[in-house]
Amino acid sequence: MTGNGDKQAQAKTVRLGAPADTSFRGRDILSVKQFSRTDLERIFLVARNMRTAVETVGSIDLLKGRLLTAAFYEPSTRTSSSFQAAMKRLGGEVIALSGMAYSSVAKGETLEDTMRTLEAYSDVLVLRHPEKGSAARAARVTRCPVINAGDGPGEHPTQALLDMFTIEQELGRFDGIRVAMVGDLRYGRTVHSLSRLLTHFDVTLDLVSPELLRMPAHIVQELRDAGMTVNETADLESVLPHADVLYCTRVQKERFEDPSDYAKVKGAYIFDPDVMGRAKADAVLMHPFPRVDEITPAVDSDPRAAYFRQIEYGLYVRMALLAMVLGQA
Ligand code: ASP
Repeated sequence: MTGNGDKQAQAKTVRLGAPADTSFRGRDILSVKQFSRTDLERIFLVARNMRTAVETVGSIDLLKGRLLTAAFYEPSTRTSSSFQAAMKRLGGEVIALSGMAYSSVAKGETLEDTMRTLEAYSDVLVLRHPEKGSAARAARVTRCPVINAGDGPGEHPTQALLDMFTIEQELGRFDGIRVAMVGDLRYGRTVHSLSRLLTHFDVTLDLVSPELLRMPAHIVQELRDAGMTVNETADLESVLPHADVLYCTRVQKERFEDPSDYAKVKGAYIFDPDVMGRAKADAVLMHPFPRVDEITPAVDSDPRAAYFRQIEYGLYVRMALLAMVLGQA
């Protein structure tokens, strides 16, 4: 397989044969780099419709008879359960595989063989795997759409889409806003993906991290090349008064080679009511979760704390994506 275009063509004939032709049908979702601003607007439109559907009737049967297989080689709570909930609320079926270490992987099976096996049963595959590029590898050997649910420190495109949808729902606009990303910008895949999506809009980005956890230089360069104003600092206080969105992240303990480095940076930034007292009155505080100690529970009742709503928006976005790649929206 050479790319999404070929896969799309094959999927049309092999898998779907459905009437409506759409630009998403049969496509893999591997990286946010594949999305244009028009794509984003279309996804948000479908996600808004999914929200209305869930709020009015709970479930619909758009994907009745379709089967999603989710293979998680790394821990997950929200991504895994929200893909399952999304498929079920669309009337589809799910095979959810977690603890892949106990599957044939333990006997030495390659990712490629496992994915080709799972494809034999499925209409769409969702993969989380610790290696960067793993979802692209899976996509190369399969015909049905593959959705990247996190490839190590690489990307987390569906999280970024739901983060964008959260900003849209909470603020009602992207252009002219100032977004601060705070914490582990080195290993945090969600910020790698989200920052790239934000380049489609007129957004100023403040990157707040300890020196050790700075956003990889090639990503910062990519953002600047796309015309974005990007500021890097270690000082949260300097960005607090201007940020429309405060996007807080967990220090990714599992990705540190040297545990003493983790000890140096853990707990670098903590949002508590005192810190929030210096943020804008209409700021939106987001976090991809799980949180460890970056936001104290005392902040949860602050109306600016959007992280639980963010989880709910994720359901609508994943419903939209599933319906779209399976040619039904
Ligand atoms: N749940 C997010 C991820 O899978 C964020 C995190 O783990 O910190 O990347």
